[in-house]
Amino acid sequence: IIGRVWSFRDVSLRVRAERERERLLREAHEAIQVRDDFLSIASHELKTPLTPLRLSLQVLRQLLESRQPGMLSRVDRALGQVRRLSSLVNDLLDASCVGVGRLELQRAPVSLRELALEVSSDFLAISDQHPITVDAPDEELLVLGDSGRLSQVLTNLMENALKYSPLGGAVHVSLVRDGADAVLSVADSGIGIPKEEQDHLFERFFRARNAPISGFGGLGMGLYICRDIVDRHDGHIWVESELGRGSTFHVSLPILATRTFMST
Ligand code: ADP
Repeated sequence: IIGRVWSFRDVSLRVRAERERERLLREAHEAIQVRDDFLSIASHELKTPLTPLRLSLQVLRQLLESRQPGMLSRVDRALGQVRRLSSLVNDLLDASCVGVGRLELQRAPVSLRELALEVSSDFLAISDQHPITVDAPDEELLVLGDSGRLSQVLTNLMENALKYSPLGGAVHVSLVRDGADAVLSVADSGIGIPKEEQDHLFERFFRARNAPISGFGGLGMGLYICRDIVDRHDGHIWVESELGRGSTFHVSLPILATRTFMST
């Protein structure tokens, strides 16, 4: 009888532990759902007023240009802040789409050569504090992909390269062919990333412990979004970095076709 009582107790303890485990899993799942819903709703709501705000500032800028040019720098500063806010909100919005597999891609042949030159020249136009160099091959490497999303990846890597480098730190963008893949790389000589943290860089909300040195804030979502975009192009993204010496981020994508670029 005693033996039966003990085995009955054992079974009921196991059943109770199993129920507790299921309850905790359910609660964790619900908490993730609430977080993702919040992220999605909050980013949509935050995005709505930003467009009219930016347009109003642009109109104000045009008016001031002829009447009170002395005030222009203030409006430009406000426009800069609106741009920064828009980029953070877009990251939030994208991250909420990545979480539920809803980041949309419009695929067409994309010349990585053109993309690298275009994105780099955008940065050259606005960054006078960092030397930026570009090395692109004489052949056009075509991939099948979403040019807007691929530009977003390169933009993010270049923004990070500038953000995590001291003033004057050089940034080098290169595109090379490696067998059946095209490899786009962004190298900087900035703060680098601790070895033991490099495996976590592409996780949502992850920031390395030395990130605050840069003096710039961040949400730790850019690389998470980049990895999703690259994965969905059947590519790879990885980093080589040495603490205090700099980092190089590489993106490899399968080549669809090549075309020799004829300079005239
Ligand atoms: P954010 O820059 O907004 O924090 P990201 O997802 O773009 O988010 O980057 C994640 C983390 O990876 C950063 O917080 C930083 O710690 C590290 N990181 C990314 N790029 C670089 C870089 N070029 N140099 C040093 N650290 C970097």
